[in-house]
Amino acid sequence: MNTYGAVDAAIIDELRSILGDRWVLTEADKLEAYSHDETNAEEYGHMPEVAVLPSTTEQVAAVVRLANRERIPITPRGAGSGLSGGAIPLYGGILLSVERMNRVVELDLENMTITVEAGMVTNELAQLVQEKGLFFAGYPMSLETCYIGGNIAENAGGGKAVKYGVTGRYILGLELVTPTGEIVTLGGKLSKDVSGYDLTHLIVGSEGTLGIVTQATVKLIGFPKAASDLLVLFRTPQEAIDVVPVIMSAGIVPTSIEFMDRLSVRTSCAYLNESLPYEEAGAMLLIEVDGAHADQVEADLLAIGDLCEQHGAMEVYVAEDRTAIERIWSVRRNIAEAFKVDSPIQSLEDIVLPPASIPRIIPELDRLSAKFEMQIPCYGHAGDGNLHATLVKDPSMEMDRWHRNEEACLRELYSVTTSLGGKISGEHGIGIKRKPYLKELIDPVELKLMQGIKSTWDPRNIMNPGKIFDLGEIQHYVSEEV
Ligand SMILES: Cc1cc2nc3c(=O)[nH]c(=O)nc-3n(C[C@H](O)[C@H](O)[C@H](O)COP(=O)(O)OP(=O)(O)OC[C@H]3O[C@@H](n4cnc5c(N)ncnc54)[C@H](O)[C@@H]3O)c2cc1C
Repeated sequence: MNTYGAVDAAIIDELRSILGDRWVLTEADKLEAYSHDETNAEEYGHMPEVAVLPSTTEQVAAVVRLANRERIPITPRGAGSGLSGGAIPLYGGILLSVERMNRVVELDLENMTITVEAGMVTNELAQLVQEKGLFFAGYPMSLETCYIGGNIAENAGGGKAVKYGVTGRYILGLELVTPTGEIVTLGGKLSKDVSGYDLTHLIVGSEGTLGIVTQATVKLIGFPKAASDLLVLFRTPQEAIDVVPVIMSAGIVPTSIEFMDRLSVRTSCAYLNESLPYEEAGAMLLIEVDGAHADQVEADLLAIGDLCEQHGAMEVYVAEDRTAIERIWSVRRNIAEAFKVDSPIQSLEDIVLPPASIPRIIPELDRLSAKFEMQIPCYGHAGDGNLHATLVKDPSMEMDRWHRNEEACLRELYSVTTSLGGKISGEHGIGIKRKPYLKELIDPVELKLMQGIKSTWDPRNIMNPGKIFDLGEIQHYVSEEV
């Protein structure tokens, strides 16, 4: 049975007494902003019945206790930059935004950690620690808008993950409000901890389905003193991708190896009114190396450039200064946004493959593109095997046909990815968007274990329901005593 309690006048009154009138939003025009994320709003959007903006952990806990008592769905939300529909209140209910919880709790220079509230914008955190010569390396490309809480919930990756790993590697401790409204501190400031199950990292990547992160203790490292970038042009996407495993096994660990095919570069350049030498090239790699010494960085970069030339690169450009580097990275960072503006009807994918299998996915993309009559431009974090193939609707294709082709193409893309040892999402998550496909491809025992964890943590299935799993897949208790 999956009947949820309604948000009626008495519930609104109770929320107002917890938060104050101003932070309980009920007007449709204000709620609209909380009804979608960066996925297609028409396809996935859903209005909450009420949005609440707490400023303390205690307020979050009080709202969750109310939701649990009345069995009202509650959806945690960060900046809403997600790409899988995770922050969308699929069953209405209460939308809880952490946007007002954006304070620094503690900067601990001795232990090289910073503890912040979940609503801190990721770039603010990165800049704040950089002023102290420190580095938070686990951030995504959307760092100027997204929040650290959202990064934790999605275990976000980004442009520096080849060398530095993804968000989870830097999360040492969490303060969490559980789905029954208890406040718990997980982890701490420890580099090692095997004192029981690692619940901190169970929360990382759990997409807001196991509780609301209110604070995080983030590990910092020294800021690299030198960095430099190469832009390498190849005739074909296949040639560019083929060189990635060669670089990865050469004994140098680059900071980033980003891949962009011609259509991705062209679309982003047009959007930004920028120019890169893409016309003759079928694809490019943007490769960054950083370290403590400029000489070593330069030597590593030249060695990678030589490898690329030996493996068919047309041109190898060394970015001359920070302005040039920033211009190239801006083209890379804006591809997703540029496609959204240029071709709003599309499906941005996030497949991830083992390094040796990346070259084998490129011909599959060409095959799927021809079979389903759609362009499939591709870009992404090639050094992590994480590619954002994007299914783009041709303007002349009718909507019914597009939906059928999109679904069939995704099913085939995910199935090929899985057969090559990959997974359907490397960093954007399952959310609503990939939910139907996960259960078809995952080991049924693994799926059952995941569903069991969800039932135990969230006995009334109120915490971000309908994400990762369908409602009916989760056992829950309807008893009032829970
Ligand atoms: C242009 C663009 C570029 C992007 N680049 C990258 C990239 O390089 N790498 C990458 O990994 N992603 C990328 N993303 C996707 C997105 O920015 C990330 O997933 C980001 O981590 C989401 O953070 P958010 O604060 O916007 O979260 P939201 O979108 O608000 O929420 C995402 C999920 O987290 C949950 N959540 C949010 N806050 C909390 C909390 N405090 N406690 C519990 N659960 C919570 C929500 O319920 C939801 O399930 C990009 C998106 C865009 C639009």
